[in-house]
Amino acid sequence: MKKLFKMQVKLFVAIVAILLLVQVPITYAANLSELKGQKSEIEKQKNELNSEIKAKSSEISTIESKLKELVAQIEALSAKITSTNAEITTVNAEIEDANNKIIALEEEIAILQEKIEQRDLLLQDRARAIQENGTVDYLDVLLGANSFVDFIDRFSAVNTLIEADRQIMREQQDDQNQLEEQKLVLENTRKELEDKKAELQRLKESLDSQKAEKDRYINELEAEQEKLKNEKQLLEEEYSEALILDKELDQKIKAETQRMLEELRKQNAGNLPNTSDGTFMKPTNGRLTSPWGWRNLGFGAEFHYGIDLANSTGTPIVASAGGIVTYAAPLSTYGNCIIITHSVNGQIFTTVYAHLSTIQVSKGQSVSKGEQIGLMGSTGRSTGPHLHFEIHTGPWNGQKAGNVNPLRYISL
Ligand SMILES: [Zn+2]
Repeated sequence: MKKLFKMQVKLFVAIVAILLLVQVPITYAANLSELKGQKSEIEKQKNELNSEIKAKSSEISTIESKLKELVAQIEALSAKITSTNAEITTVNAEIEDANNKIIALEEEIAILQEKIEQRDLLLQDRARAIQENGTVDYLDVLLGANSFVDFIDRFSAVNTLIEADRQIMREQQDDQNQLEEQKLVLENTRKELEDKKAELQRLKESLDSQKAEKDRYINELEAEQEKLKNEKQLLEEEYSEALILDKELDQKIKAETQRMLEELRKQNAGNLPNTSDGTFMKPTNGRLTSPWGWRNLGFGAEFHYGIDLANSTGTPIVASAGGIVTYAAPLSTYGNCIIITHSVNGQIFTTVYAHLSTIQVSKGQSVSKGEQIGLMGSTGRSTGPHLHFEIHTGPWNGQKAGNVNPLRYISL
């Protein structure tokens, strides 16, 4: 693709050079160069867009990984919150249990309290009865004795009764004390549970606020992410548009290039530039060492289709008249050879320059009369540095049908 592009550029440069030299209207070239300018502008835009898109992508993936990290943190926090909630529920149940137990104890205590109070009242009544010599039970019991033994019996019975009452009251008091102790223990437990619950509540609040903060951060990041994605999408749309423009330009450039090639072909076909004075000039400085016509160099008679002009290697060779280079490469016994096609007063001529050391023009190039095209040498079938120069009427052909004596057109 790149290579093709380079070739196109080379071709384009060559075409522009030719068009400028043969002085055709340069609108095509101007057109093409404008298109090329637009194309390089689009390429630049595309590259810029591309790097912007890449930058956005990397920002997006950075945020993406931040979001992943945050989501993981939030999940961990949520799990902690769930387990803290469960603990709080457990502690609440324990507190409720303690409360229920405390209420039950309080009920038991109240019942005992009442019993003790009743017994106490009973005992007080009995004691008062005894002390006040009242007529109540005990005294009646004692006084009702019909003998001393009976009295003793009755006395100890009364004592036993009172003692029994007291014993019951003491036991009830012990029970009440025990219950009070249990209640105290339970109240302590409840207090501890309440503390634990408060601590858990604080932990939960801290976790909730951490989670809320992370949620806010996630929202911010997601908004940023959304913004970046939108920006990236816009850039990608711009890039697509640039791509379409680029393709359109490629097609326009291709069409314009073909138009120029067509123009050139027409130029070559019949509209070659005229030389200024209609004549050919001597193509190099050198003395005539071999004229045109039959000669014998020791290998038998042969026809010499041109003239030989000898000088030192590197002597400049110029175009004998203005025209288009139709060949510029080694050619069999000619060595390095240039062939130029001319249109002189509407007639086609061809000139040949052989044995060059260096070729300085290329095929398709337009040259003007006297323009340097190469350097003298001794390549091909040659025994020393010289220019072999031919003139043909009509286009170049292998039969050399239009070959003429160059001295008919140039003077030495
Ligand atoms: Zn020759």
